[in-house]
Amino acid sequence: MTAQIIDGVAIAESLRSEVAVEVQERLAVGKQPPGLATVLVGDNPASQVYVRSKQKACQEAGIQSFGYTLPATATQAEVEALVSELNADPKVNGILVQLPLPSGLDEEKVLSAIRIEKDIDGFHPLNIGRLAQKGRDPLFVPCTPEGVMYLLESSLPSLEGANAVVLGRSNIVGMPVALLLVRANATVTICHSRSKDLPGIVRQADVLVTAVGRPEMVRGGWVKPGAVVIDVGINRVEDASRRKGYRLVGDVAFDEVKEVAGVITPVPGGVGPMTIAMLLRNTLRASRLAETFV
Ligand code: NDP
Repeated sequence: MTAQIIDGVAIAESLRSEVAVEVQERLAVGKQPPGLATVLVGDNPASQVYVRSKQKACQEAGIQSFGYTLPATATQAEVEALVSELNADPKVNGILVQLPLPSGLDEEKVLSAIRIEKDIDGFHPLNIGRLAQKGRDPLFVPCTPEGVMYLLESSLPSLEGANAVVLGRSNIVGMPVALLLVRANATVTICHSRSKDLPGIVRQADVLVTAVGRPEMVRGGWVKPGAVVIDVGINRVEDASRRKGYRLVGDVAFDEVKEVAGVITPVPGGVGPMTIAMLLRNTLRASRLAETFV
């Protein structure tokens, strides 16, 4: 049996249209457009691409975007001063500091400086702390993990009691995904580079989320028949037949795993587009929140 393939592009597109419609409704009653400020420090080419695509998506949804670029030599005080300025700017509802920051800057201090009601990336320690606590709710959840949960919740009637395995424990993907799965009442195992017998652990998973950054590491024989597999990994592998000389693959050996899993996301076109859709949704939510915080 071949797995059902989740079309992340179509799902993200429909979420982005919903955001655009609500933005237009807000403008029609005289409200200001939601505003997203992006802060890019340094000249990391991948970060430049990500920031540009976020700005373009904002524009398409009617969200105002304000791009700020600081040189790689910017000091901690300069970055924090910019964040303070954006915190005070009523046109800015969301502040996105593109990670990673250049070495020498204290990422946690910069993220902590963002007002939590403008923390549309959900990385403020208070939002992450609330995510980890029972009975507390973060104002925002990190965009990629939120996209993963959206895809899972659209694929399964319930996550309650499901055996979920998360490969990866990073602050931006693995750990928040695991926390969200616990909140959804799944039984969660988190694996990392020191875990033993990954195939044996993965074979127990009704739900598998991979965020390790290792091309096609998860093989067909690792996966429980019928499992739901969400592949967050985006890895470049050389491919002379492509114009760019490479192609993108996930952490999952797609062709093998799709013959075993019940549901699977492709790479590209699975989780990737969901990240930006969630960012737009969060920015819109932040503009609603701003009305209650004035
Ligand atoms: P990190 O490098 O920060 O974290 C990788 C995690 O995987 C770590 O916890 C690491 O363990 C673990 N790991 C690494 N190698 C192995 C291994 N051989 N076996 C088991 N665990 C392993 O990566 P990110 O979380 O930032 O990103 C993960 C992937 O997701 C990347 O491919 C990235 O490009 C992609 N990504 C995709 C996004 C999207 O929008 N779709 C957004 C963000 C990331 P340890 O902690 O022990 O080091």
